[in-house]
Amino acid sequence: MQAANDNAGERGRNGASAGASPARPLVQKFGGTSVGDAAAMRAAAELVRAASPQPVLVVLSAMARVTDELLALARLAASGAAQPAEELRLRLMERHRVTAEELFATRVPEDLARDFEEQGAELARLLAALHGGSGKPASARQLDAIAGLGERLSTRVFARYLRHLGAAAELVDAGAVLVTDDAFGAAAPRFERIATLAREHFAPRLAPGRIVVTQGYVGRSEAGEPTTLGRGGSDYSAAIFGAALGASEIQIWTDVEGVLTADPRRVERARPIAQLSAAEAGELAAFGAKVLHPATIHPAVEAGIPVTVRHTRRPSGRFTTITKNGSSGRDVVAIASRGPIHVITASSPRMLQQAGFLARLFEVFARRRVSVDLVATAELSVSLTVEHEAPVRSLAEEIAAFAEVSVAEERAIVAVVGERLKRTRGVCTRVFDALAEMPIELISMGANEINLSVVVERKLEQDVVRRLHAALIESEGGGER
Ligand code: ADP
Ligand code: ASP
Ligand code: MG
Repeated sequence: MQAANDNAGERGRNGASAGASPARPLVQKFGGTSVGDAAAMRAAAELVRAASPQPVLVVLSAMARVTDELLALARLAASGAAQPAEELRLRLMERHRVTAEELFATRVPEDLARDFEEQGAELARLLAALHGGSGKPASARQLDAIAGLGERLSTRVFARYLRHLGAAAELVDAGAVLVTDDAFGAAAPRFERIATLAREHFAPRLAPGRIVVTQGYVGRSEAGEPTTLGRGGSDYSAAIFGAALGASEIQIWTDVEGVLTADPRRVERARPIAQLSAAEAGELAAFGAKVLHPATIHPAVEAGIPVTVRHTRRPSGRFTTITKNGSSGRDVVAIASRGPIHVITASSPRMLQQAGFLARLFEVFARRRVSVDLVATAELSVSLTVEHEAPVRSLAEEIAAFAEVSVAEERAIVAVVGERLKRTRGVCTRVFDALAEMPIELISMGANEINLSVVVERKLEQDVVRRLHAALIESEGGGER
């Protein structure tokens, strides 16, 4: 390893400690609803200022629903609906302007008004390129350039507002730091490059009392084109930046009091979880707990940085702390679910004798870059689950060349997650008792044994989640501190 003669480099790896080094920065990420209107932005700005003098890297999402609208806009434009697209573009720009007027007491500062003009014109230009596309759907590359504009707009408003309040806040575009590959729509970060660039662009600006504002979700390819990390990717950005800077903590500010024992939209009795291990949090996110992007935990854990999930409107309420070895102290921590998904079943008498059957089957998925989530094998068949977007028809056609194949659509995965599942006797029995009357189509226990998953028809998803929550969590007062 290189000699540690570079202060910033040393800080990046180990985090600054007491003494001569400046304080380690805090990363605060605010999700869409936490910057969804002027009142929310005011509340978020208060939280940022309250952290001072600790230097803060603020990572922002687009205002609530803006990413959806931008993607809808792109699709409209590509389908040739120029007029509706233009109306939607104007409404979206207007919403930002009205938010700014409220924040700045009616007069939008000139530099911000100029930013709006520039971003609005950029959006119009990108949409015009789609109109010219003769009805072809927008490419992933074009969608990424458009989708990222939501974060560009929200960060411009927020950074300007912090300065208006007298804070030493500076906007640094995430594209200067977050270099990715060119898998548009779900780009993979280049961690080493990012670490170097974070030291170059963020670290020198993160002195005590200072704030840097940047975008979540967006990056740029090696060739300099805009990319995104995939939907919900702002959490991931926060974790990547936090790891690169050796942050003291990564705070994910959202609209719930942390990670709960189930999605509160499905289960009213879901309760906040105080402590979670990184493995549990990762598993929950992967199985559908939207509160965290599935890849969030990894970079933070590698760097030994705690991730907390907190409610923007109840900052002194309960919250969740996720650390590598954190523990909820419970056998079953939470129930997560994800749907719709498809189940593909391939059966063949040859499975018994042919060693290469599974290899051949999985090769079909690998070649098409379709990731398989759950797998269950029986004597003569294999069932596996794939995302809703997977090209099931063509996968099935290809598999039909060497096996009988059937596809079940409109299914959902429901997962029981808990690090101590493996050591707990009777969890399976309790799961089966709770679901005694429900038709379960597939069961899988993760290799790491921290999730037990079942596949059911999608129309039963809600019911199954509730039954499992009642039987495994409510019965034990789960989640409450
Ligand atoms: P943000 O815009 O702040 O990133 P998201 O909408 O992406 O917020 O994530 C927060 C939402 O995640 C919550 O409103 C909640 O409905 C949903 N959610 C799903 N599962 C869980 C869970 N286990 N705990 C907390 N929230 C969950
Ligand atoms: N704005 C992006 C989205 O809606 C990223 C995020 O909010 O995390 O997916
Ligand atoms: Mg999110």
